Amino acid sequence: MSRNQSMTVLNPATLNSDENIDETPIYQIQQIYELSKSAFDTWKEKSVKERLSFIRKLKNVMFDRMDEIIEVIANDTGKVKVEAVTADVMPVLDAIAFLEKTAENSLAARRVQTPATFWGKKSYIEYMARGTVLVISPWNYPLQLAMVPVLNALIAGNSVILKPSEVTPLVGKYIEHLFMLAEFPKGLVQVAHGGKDVGAALTREKPDYIFFTGSAATGKKIQEEASKALIPTTLELGGKDPILIFADANLDRAAKGAAWGAFTNSGQVCMSSERIYVEQSIYEEFLEKLQSETLMLKQGTDLNDDIGSMTYRGQIDVMKEQLEEAIAGGARLITGSIPRDWDLSQGLFIPPTIVVDVHQKMKLVQEETFGPVVTVMPFQSEEEAIELANDSIYGLNASVWSKDLKKAKRVVSKLVTGNAVINDVMISVVNHHLPFGGVKHSGIGKYHGKQGIRVFCHEKSVFLDR
Ligand code: NAD
Repeated sequence: MSRNQSMTVLNPATLNSDENIDETPIYQIQQIYELSKSAFDTWKEKSVKERLSFIRKLKNVMFDRMDEIIEVIANDTGKVKVEAVTADVMPVLDAIAFLEKTAENSLAARRVQTPATFWGKKSYIEYMARGTVLVISPWNYPLQLAMVPVLNALIAGNSVILKPSEVTPLVGKYIEHLFMLAEFPKGLVQVAHGGKDVGAALTREKPDYIFFTGSAATGKKIQEEASKALIPTTLELGGKDPILIFADANLDRAAKGAAWGAFTNSGQVCMSSERIYVEQSIYEEFLEKLQSETLMLKQGTDLNDDIGSMTYRGQIDVMKEQLEEAIAGGARLITGSIPRDWDLSQGLFIPPTIVVDVHQKMKLVQEETFGPVVTVMPFQSEEEAIELANDSIYGLNASVWSKDLKKAKRVVSKLVTGNAVINDVMISVVNHHLPFGGVKHSGIGKYHGKQGIRVFCHEKSVFLDR
């Protein structure tokens, strides 16, 4: 009997309560690492082709269970199903397609030039798997942000311990289930469930690499712990992404883009557009367009709805505090409602909210909001626009709107940001060939692209004489 047949198949109907998810006891963590290290010893010897064959099987399992996966994500997060498909499931499938196309080449030993004075000698770089990789993931795209790094780590020859977010435990459980159905070797991918205590205990146990996605505050704690044992890390952290709209932009498109950038997934996106800066001469005109685009958005859980609810109640308190401070300082809402009027009786539905008459020092303009709230401010000149955009501890993504591409590129080159988009928002992340990651408090390191695979290897430099 195959493992497939002997195993209980999860049914989302029975997976509707996190009471089904047992937190991983701390005393088991050492055992998890031991198992992971022995799985690594076998896995690292497999060829990239063999590793890919497991990943292909996982892809087939995902295709077979697509409806179920979408159901679990939507139930666990409150997001609309189209968002679960386009931003959670599709990026995983895209990542697999990217691995199928590029992994072998990315991981093959790479010949490098040897100085002419060493005539006849050779040099090359070998990509060596690191060992056990700890992946810690957040709740906003609970499938994508867990699975993409896990798959990249696996293809590079590592074993993986995944700690998904406790806020979306059903997706975490479901990921474990998908790997079981795809019959990955025992101990190769282990999922540890629970919150910060489990995450911290896993970090202390000394993995060979940590790939963390989450808030800057947690990222710093992880980096501090990792530095004690010199464990290398990738940190994919938060953002406060700006949009700059110049007078010569296509304003209709810019307004649609800005509304999508600010409110998709209820603003719970690391590269959500949280600050909009508009050239003074078109400020009022743009504001009207943005307002009307926003008022057209339908919020709910039906297939035709544009945005769902928020996922995490704790985030609502963050938004409330920022908004109340801004309102007390003279800010005005032109859509949405003040926190006192939020009705959470039918779910965590916060209406898409545009805030004007703000100033740069407000928390709402400086701190990550991670909800459906966006600020809009005017600027007078290109220099001022750049200065305002860069006035942030974060640097994840930025968007610049202008028909003058020379100007747009000039502005982009002056923005301190890991990613940028001209005449659109956020979309750079869907191109798996483009390295993705932030600067400043938005993170350290990149994923996607060849770097996204190679980051899970150490590079061994070899000089060869005959
Ligand atoms: P979070 O930092 O609260 O938690 C992230 C993960 O870390 C969770 O699994 C959590 O259990 C775990 N954790 C918490 N404390 C820990 C500790 N001390 N040691 C080890 N693990 C610990 O973040 P969140 O609220 O889940 O996610 C939202 C944040 O993630 C936002 O700031 C958002 O911008 C960011 N994010 C970044 C990206 C990116 O690619 N840059 C993508 C998505 C989300």
